Amino acid sequence: MGVRALIDGLELRPDQSAALGEGAFDGDQVWVEFLTQEDAHVRPAHAALHGTVWSADDPNAPAPPLDYGCRCQLRYVAKPNTLAAHVFPVAEVVPVPRADVFAAYLDKHVPQWPKVAAAAAQAQPAERLSVAYLTLKRLYPNLGADTRDLARMAVEAAPKPATVAPVAAGGSVPAAVAGAEAGRG
Ligand SMILES: [Zn+2]
Repeated sequence: MGVRALIDGLELRPDQSAALGEGAFDGDQVWVEFLTQEDAHVRPAHAALHGTVWSADDPNAPAPPLDYGCRCQLRYVAKPNTLAAHVFPVAEVVPVPRADVFAAYLDKHVPQWPKVAAAAAQAQPAERLSVAYLTLKRLYPNLGADTRDLARMAVEAAPKPATVAPVAAGGSVPAAVAGAEAGRG
């Protein structure tokens, strides 16, 4: 299925809007790039996404406004060496999962974030964000208003539970854990 023009209010050249209107390209060729205003008011979760690209038909692509007052924007870019690259600016990076984007940002800004993610993973789903918030605040008392945003990112960036703990309801038990259980005898 071709990519339709998704972004309202974007100035597109006639050939660009024609290509999108006709669905000439699919999401393998046409990507969207997320751009912030790059100033001091940009929230961490938005700053982390700055410059990232997403398949234009990816339902998980971030679609501004992400929050109240968000001033971020998307622009169309093309995968290198495709026909779409004749119509749109060529992307400088490739799409990666949002969890990886957040993990890279957290590594740089709050390197102890894996402790936050681990604490949150132990908590009930409804309490995960609060636990992440409190853990992050204890490790980094001076993050101020960014604490909540960074805590949310740590929860999203956390490795998925399947690799962390065995699940009782018919889930398979990781080999290392199974070994530990057997050794307990
Ligand atoms: Zn924003």
